[in-house]
Amino acid sequence: NRYQDHEKKLLKAFAGVAGFAYARACQFEKGKDLATRDGLTGLMNHRSLQEALRTEKVRADRKKYNIGVLMMDIDHFKRVNDTYGHPVGDEVIKGIANAISGEIRKEIDVVARYGGEEFVVALIDTTPEGMIETAERIRKAVGKLEFNVHLTDPLRVTVSIGAFLVEPEFTDMKKAVNNADQALYKAKDGGRNQVVQFEKIETDAV
Ligand code: GH3
Ligand code: MG
Ligand code: MG
Repeated sequence: NRYQDHEKKLLKAFAGVAGFAYARACQFEKGKDLATRDGLTGLMNHRSLQEALRTEKVRADRKKYNIGVLMMDIDHFKRVNDTYGHPVGDEVIKGIANAISGEIRKEIDVVARYGGEEFVVALIDTTPEGMIETAERIRKAVGKLEFNVHLTDPLRVTVSIGAFLVEPEFTDMKKAVNNADQALYKAKDGGRNQVVQFEKIETDAV
């Protein structure tokens, strides 16, 4: 059962084409990854978050469930950079990204690096209580992280979190992120290292 010459020739031709197609496929995946993922943390980037939120909202409306939007920002992060240097700051960002990922449901919830040291989480099919519980879990998990900065005791950081529950009747996901951001502002104002839920101002009552 030896291969005939013409068979070997044929196999070689197939291998060439298949190898080329495989290389192209890998290149495409890599390109897609660069476009959708953040290089430092591996999380979704700002742009793909917008896309993911739109897709999730369509699904949520069909099945009639809520999406919890959390906007978080590291507290006094400038100090970290100023005191320990930018590379340590980067390690902190990576550590927090991991901590957040560890507290949410993989493959279900959405997490993105929204800006430099800001993260957005979308909790799929949640309740008001569930959203706040998860936000608190994330906040506590971040507070427990220890970063080795050699010189002194391990470095600890905290995050402030703004939360907004997107119910089926709420349609604007950009506004949802904005509302979570407003709540984050209040969390900062209230002393940081805390979770604040967005509260609608009842203009009708006024
Ligand atoms: P606050 O508690 O009010 O949030 O204070 P803050 O010092 O954290 O203020 P702010 O959120 O405005 O800080 C943003 C800082 O994050 C400034 C910028 O130098 C730093 N930063 C942004 N992106 C990166 C990054 O990729 N790596 C590092 N090391 N630092 C970053
Ligand atoms: Mg910030
Ligand atoms: Mg900050």
